[in-house]
Amino acid sequence: MNYRAILFDFDGVLCNGQYYDKYYLSNYPGVHEWIQENIFGNNELVQKWMRNQISSIEINKIISENTGNEFNCLNEIFQESIRKMSIEIEINELAESLKLTGRKIGIVTDNMDVFTQITVPNHKLNSLFDVIINSASYGILKRENCGKLYDIALAALSTDIKNSLLIDDSELTINMYKEKGGYGFLYKNFAELKSFLQL
Ligand SMILES: [Mg+2]
Repeated sequence: MNYRAILFDFDGVLCNGQYYDKYYLSNYPGVHEWIQENIFGNNELVQKWMRNQISSIEINKIISENTGNEFNCLNEIFQESIRKMSIEIEINELAESLKLTGRKIGIVTDNMDVFTQITVPNHKLNSLFDVIINSASYGILKRENCGKLYDIALAALSTDIKNSLLIDDSELTINMYKEKGGYGFLYKNFAELKSFLQL
């Protein structure tokens, strides 16, 4: 394994939690379903959210207005659901062990403003990962602008893309990364990744 830098996707790799988890909305009949259908079911809206063209506050206002629930209650539930999201322990330990071998590790994620505001400090991701790139901080998604977010991450790690590996659960993203000149691993489960890395 000759990679000098390893970049991790967040959702579907480092974390399998969900924003607005059903558990936290159990006292709000129909609201979880409304959110799934009208927010997460609206790909264009989700992409705008991940480019920070619309904020989490605005999203919660939309939910409040359309479901007739108090904005403050919804916003608190939303934030609580994010604080309770857990990191996949095996992947986290793998990242730690890769860092101990002298490799650089980073996160590149299509994500929302709250990832930077809540998730990063909550899990102290900054102390483990050498660079964390959130689409919401740059206004573009991972596959936009020829994968510029990866260029930014690799520049911060002073690593050429040909010496890097991306671990992501999106085949389109892995294919783009390979076309850019990097190595890619399409993540499905931890066992496959471990065997791929020969750890
Ligand atoms: Mg993913």
